[in-house]
Amino acid sequence: MDRSLGYYVVAMATRPPIRSWLRGIALLLGLSSMAASLVSAADQGVTAADGSKRQAIRAVCTTAMVAEVVREVGGEAVEVTQLMGQGVDPHLYKATASDVKAVSGADIVFISGLMLEGRMGDVFLRTREHGGTVIALSDGVPHHLLMHPQGGHGESDPHIWMDPKVWGCTVDVVRDALARSRPDLASAFAANAAKYRAEIESLISSVQGIVASIPQQHRLLVTAHDAFGYFGRAYGIKVAGLQGISTDSESGLADVKRLVDRIMKSGIGAVFAETSVPDKGVMALVEGVAARGGHIVVGEALFSDAMGAPGTPEGTYRGMILHNARAIARGLSPSEVTSGSNPAVGAQ
Ligand SMILES: [Zn+2]
Repeated sequence: MDRSLGYYVVAMATRPPIRSWLRGIALLLGLSSMAASLVSAADQGVTAADGSKRQAIRAVCTTAMVAEVVREVGGEAVEVTQLMGQGVDPHLYKATASDVKAVSGADIVFISGLMLEGRMGDVFLRTREHGGTVIALSDGVPHHLLMHPQGGHGESDPHIWMDPKVWGCTVDVVRDALARSRPDLASAFAANAAKYRAEIESLISSVQGIVASIPQQHRLLVTAHDAFGYFGRAYGIKVAGLQGISTDSESGLADVKRLVDRIMKSGIGAVFAETSVPDKGVMALVEGVAARGGHIVVGEALFSDAMGAPGTPEGTYRGMILHNARAIARGLSPSEVTSGSNPAVGAQ
């Protein structure tokens, strides 16, 4: 990206006193030893080209998808700390002692929102109660673009990054939050945001081109949990997950039977594991189909709620989305699953 904020250099600066509420959060989480040892610490700052010292905006981000937006919009004026790495399930993630420390020292905490980080709610609530800034990227998504699971209680599906059109809406939330923190850099943030949003939205047609090869009758994406609702809506693919929109619930035999029935009727040849969810659920589907005389394979693992390793193509938002699209297209394409075709189709 164009690092239009690149005139900063890193320097050392004295960190302001740690906010008193940190002890409260640490104690809330049972981290008494940490609460007792919270003392001041050195931190990085930035020095402008004219020699005046300015501190970088300390941003703490939950998922890699969120962190990428903040890095791209903020450039070198922002120090990003990302809490959840490769293969981490944000639904189940609990704050560690170092997370609480990072949050307490942040100027802004950026979260995905819509209860994605469901077990960190107390930390975010306390942060706000004590005057901290917690920004949910989901606040940028217009209500009419949000999805609500069937049979739910009105909650919104939090997997908003799965549709580049929807995820693009979050960029301006980051732009505005950073600009409130550093009004002098607002124009640079705006330029970065416009460029990155265009990059995100360019994926829409790229993914359309990839999934176009999937025959209509095979457009059923079965995964470990319901992370692909927005993807399915955007590209005309039905989706079904063994678990609901959160992994914070157990699936049961009834869920397996329901999905096996649907797989047998659909004729698809693959179901998909996810890098942030254990495989046992999709393996139960494979076994269930086999018990009914069918055959199905587990396709390439999808990056649902976490990106791949940093430094790999899948360690970027673009790479993650393109990997998923290609893996799904390969898995659901009849030519790719000839050996895994379901002989029981049509016998239902
Ligand atoms: Zn999820």
